[in-house]
Amino acid sequence: MLVDPFGREITYVRISVTDRCDFRCVYCMAEHMTFLPKRDLLTLEELLRLSDVFIRMGVKKIRLTGGEPLVRRNIVWLIEQLGERVKRRELEELTITTNGSQLPQLAERIAAAGVRRINVSLDTLDPARFEAITRWGRFTQVMAGIEAAKAAGLAIKINMVALRGVNEDEFDRMIAWCGEQGFDLTLIETMPMGEIDGDRTAQYLPLSIVRRRLEEKWTLTDIPYRTGGPARYVRVEETGRRLGFITPLSHNFCESCNRVRVTCTGTMYMCLGQEDKAELREVLRTSESDGPVEAAIRAAIARKPKGHDFVIDRRHRRPAVARHMSVTGG
Ligand code: SAM
Ligand code: SF4
Repeated sequence: MLVDPFGREITYVRISVTDRCDFRCVYCMAEHMTFLPKRDLLTLEELLRLSDVFIRMGVKKIRLTGGEPLVRRNIVWLIEQLGERVKRRELEELTITTNGSQLPQLAERIAAAGVRRINVSLDTLDPARFEAITRWGRFTQVMAGIEAAKAAGLAIKINMVALRGVNEDEFDRMIAWCGEQGFDLTLIETMPMGEIDGDRTAQYLPLSIVRRRLEEKWTLTDIPYRTGGPARYVRVEETGRRLGFITPLSHNFCESCNRVRVTCTGTMYMCLGQEDKAELREVLRTSESDGPVEAAIRAAIARKPKGHDFVIDRRHRRPAVARHMSVTGG
């Protein structure tokens, strides 16, 4: 069992399997990013070994994210290996957060591997707007990916980042569309992570305002569903689907935090909103036995902070956390 100094059990690990992406979403990345040299990345075998150590230490849920996790070469191998752990009931759940671009080819294999649910990021249903937000994304490809995932029997949750002046007129349409498709929906506030080309304070739209607006049209009933993360859920009575609000800036969710994040280079972050980290790659590469890896994880969990101090800083316009969201994958 992994328990931090505040008594929180760590049962959930989010692993970013690559820092690369085939999109350049405006709130996430600058258009010209410098990516890590390949040798710095954990190999897929190392990622599996690290996952197995976490599983032995009591982790029940793993999410693969990125960058775009499905653009990593041979990622299906890792998904299948981890899926075996699900089938053997060593792991309760394996999930993926994806931009959807590779789903047309991969959805069936992902479902066959034992993945039951995925999150797909989709900020708009308007093709031109989609291309403006993602810069390099192709709307029809992502929609085909979502269709393929649905056909493969994967449960889908759509992640939509709420952007002032960009997609704030689309929440009603997205709720209705998700209702028709049978998808849950989560709205996300922009978080001040990493240098981007634009002004983040201009994009920031507090979800408290969004919720008030939505309540004029929809019947939203609070429900006790919790994932240990920063999302709070309601049921949209008109569609019967869940709607989540991820509000790390305007809400404190840290008391129930059950997770840590590992980057593709084996750096573990104990909090999304803090800089403290533990480097696991060298321990992995220099020890044949897993004992030193376990010890390094335990030492890091003992430093897990009580909470974050995100703030959208209007005076300095600097990100609160220097690393991009694509380093830890959200
Ligand atoms: N590429 C995959 C995708 O887009 O789903 C996985 C990685 S992406 C970093 C994970 C989630 O973080 C996406 O839903 C994305 O919209 C969100 N995200 C990225 N940058 C963000 C930011 N600065 N604030 C809030 N959410 C962000
Ligand atoms: Fe890529 Fe996901 Fe970041 Fe968009 S949000 S640039 S798809 S990592």
